[in-house]
Amino acid sequence: MNEHTHFIKAIISEDVKTGKVKEVITRFPPEPNGYLHIGHAKSICLNFDLADEFGGKTHLRFDDTNPLKEDVEFVEAIKEDVEWLGYSWDGLFFASDYFEDMYQCAVRLIEKGLAYVDDLNGDQIREMRGTLTEPGKESPYRSRSVQENLDLFERMRKGEFGDGEKVLRAKIDMASPNINLRDPVLYRISHTAHHHAGDAWCIYPMYSFAHPLEDAIEGVTHSICTLEFEDQRPLYDWVIAQCEMPNVPRQYEFARLNVTQTVMSKRKLKQLVDEQKVDGWDDPRMPTISGLRRRGYTAASIRQFVREIGVTKSNSTVDHKMMEYFVREDLKLKAPRTMGVVRPLKVVITNYPEGQVEWLEAENNPENPEMGTRKIPFSREIYIEQEDFMEDPPKKYFRLFPGNEVRLKHAYFIKCEEVIKDEQGNVTEIHCTYDPETKSGSGFTGRKVKGTLHWVEATQAVPAEFRLYEPLISEEETEEGQSFLDHINPNSLEVSAGYVEQGMKEAQAQDKFQFFRHGYFNVDPKHSLPGKPVFNLIVSLKSSFVL
Ligand code: ATP
Ligand code: MG
Ligand code: MG
Repeated sequence: MNEHTHFIKAIISEDVKTGKVKEVITRFPPEPNGYLHIGHAKSICLNFDLADEFGGKTHLRFDDTNPLKEDVEFVEAIKEDVEWLGYSWDGLFFASDYFEDMYQCAVRLIEKGLAYVDDLNGDQIREMRGTLTEPGKESPYRSRSVQENLDLFERMRKGEFGDGEKVLRAKIDMASPNINLRDPVLYRISHTAHHHAGDAWCIYPMYSFAHPLEDAIEGVTHSICTLEFEDQRPLYDWVIAQCEMPNVPRQYEFARLNVTQTVMSKRKLKQLVDEQKVDGWDDPRMPTISGLRRRGYTAASIRQFVREIGVTKSNSTVDHKMMEYFVREDLKLKAPRTMGVVRPLKVVITNYPEGQVEWLEAENNPENPEMGTRKIPFSREIYIEQEDFMEDPPKKYFRLFPGNEVRLKHAYFIKCEEVIKDEQGNVTEIHCTYDPETKSGSGFTGRKVKGTLHWVEATQAVPAEFRLYEPLISEEETEEGQSFLDHINPNSLEVSAGYVEQGMKEAQAQDKFQFFRHGYFNVDPKHSLPGKPVFNLIVSLKSSFVL
C-alpha cells in the first residue's frame, strides 16, 4: 500500500502531522439496496487501507435511510463481501439507529429558524428550485412560524399526514448559485416499515441531511465519497455546523471506478437480476464481489487491482483486461496445472494393451516445483479436444491429422492412423498408435514433433461441465434511445460437457486450477455436484494487456 500514494493520503498525513486529527476514522457506508460491486471494492480498500496505514479505525455503516429499497438480505451479503475482501471493521453501525438523534437535530434547526415544513409536492419543489442561470422561488410556506413548524413536524412524525403531503426543508438560500443549497428537503413522509428500525418511523431523513450527521455522530474524521457529491459538500458542512455537532468530519471526493464492457450501478445490476438476464447477483459474469468470487477471482487480486488504478479526481474507465491481468498473476504460482477436455473427442490407441492402465507422473506446476507431482492414469482410450484434430488441415496445423504424430502431455507420442465417422459423416473416434519409446521423462530424443496436446484418460475421467464466459456487455457504442440492455453480449455464457482428470473427482467448491492450454478455472459453489464439478472460466491464459 505504501507505494500507492495519492491526494487523500497526503491530506490525512498532514492532518496527523499537525495534530488536527488524533485518530483517523474512516467509514465504508453502503446503502443495503443491492450487492456490492467492484466499484465498492475500490471504496472499501481505500477507506480500510487509509485507516490501517495511520493506525486508525474504519466503520462499516449501513446507510439505511430509504426503507423502500433496502433489505436484510443485502445487509448480510455486504458483510460477507467486506470480510471476504480481507477486512474487519472496527464497528458495525446502522444509520437507522440514529433516527432519534437526527430527529432532534431537525427540531434544533426548526428552533433556530433554519428549517420549515412545506406543503408543496415534489414536482412543485423541483419546478420552483430554478436552474443554474435562474434563481429559485421561495415556497409560500417558507415563512411559517417556529411554533407552527415544530407542531407540524411533530405531527408528521406521529403519522397524521399521508406520504408526500408534507416535507421538512432547510431554510438556506433560494438564490444560491449552488442548487443544493436552495432549501433542500431534509425529511419526507413514507409509511413504510424499515428492515432494521421496524415500524417506529413514518418520516425518514434524506441522504444529504443524514449522511453528515452519521459521520459526525461516529466521530469520523475523513468522509470519503465519489465525485458526484462534490456539489453537496457545502450542504454537508452546513448541516454539521448548524446542528452544532461536536465532531466535525470533512468530506473528500475521488473519481468512481468504471470498467469496460460491464455496468457498474446497483440499479442496473438489479435490473439484470430482476429480468433474469443473469443467474442472480452472484452470476459469475456480474461485476459484483459475489459474482467475481464465484467466477474465481481472489480477494488479493481484487485488492491489487483497485490499489493499482489509484485514487484521482478525474473519472475514467478501466479496461476489464486489467482485472484479468491481476487474477492471472495471482494464480500463476498457486493454481495446480491439470488437464481438462472441454469438447471431447475419443481417441483409441490400438497398439496399447487392452485393460492395461499405467500411472504417469505429472508435475503440478512447473513454475512452482514446491507444488510437487501427481500420478495420472493412461490407457488405451483417452479424450482429446475436438479442435485438436482436423481431417483436412491447413498449412502450419501441428496438431493431430491423418498420418501426423503429436506429443501427449506427460505421456507418449501418438500417430493418427484412422478416422472413424458416423452415418452423417461426423468424426466420432480417432484411431492412433503410440510409440512406447517416447515416454515423457524417458529422455527420448529420436525424433521431434511440433504439437503437444492435453488429454484425459477415458475410463476414469470425471465428467465435468465447463462454463466459458465473455464480457456481459458487447463492445458497440450505445446509440441514442438505447439502454445497456440492448447491448447484452449474446455469447456471454457457453456451456460445454467435457472431462477432467481422474484425481479431480474430489475437487471442492472454489478450488482453482489451470487447465493446460485453456486458462484458469474455479469450481462453481452453486452448481457443482459430488463427483460432477462445474468449472467457471476465470480467465484465459494469454492477454494483450500489459501493465
Ligand atoms: P450505486 O450507484 O452502484 O448504487 P452508490 O454510490 O449509490 O453506488 P453506495 O451503497 O451508496 O452505492 O456506496 C457505498 C460507497 O461506495 C460510497 O461511499 C460510494 O461513493 C462508493 N462507491 C460506489 N460506487 C463506486 C465506484 N464505482 N467507485 C468507487 N466508489 C464507489
Ligand atoms: Mg450512495
Ligand atoms: Mg445508490
